Amino acid sequence: MPIYEYSCAGCGQTFAHLWRSIQAASAAPAPPCPACASPETQRILSPVAVLGGMGGLTPGEQAAASAQATRQASITPKAQIDSLRQSKAGKEAP
Ligand SMILES: [Zn+2]
Repeated sequence: MPIYEYSCAGCGQTFAHLWRSIQAASAAPAPPCPACASPETQRILSPVAVLGGMGGLTPGEQAAASAQATRQASITPKAQIDSLRQSKAGKEAP
């Protein structure tokens, strides 16, 4: 079931709507705003399922943010990685 994100032209609220199928999503009009009940809502072309939690960023900014997150993950101090590995190994050992 696809989840689409919408923004309200009336109050600026963004919300997600879960559709039964892609066909239903494309055939039916955009759902009304849950905050102000305005029908003036517009679909945001970014599936919430993939980009959840990054609302308000442009696709370029989202790419930059995720690239930054990857970079930060890759500079974890080696000592920290070793201690994580050891604690994990300790748990897995019989
Ligand atoms: Zn609204």
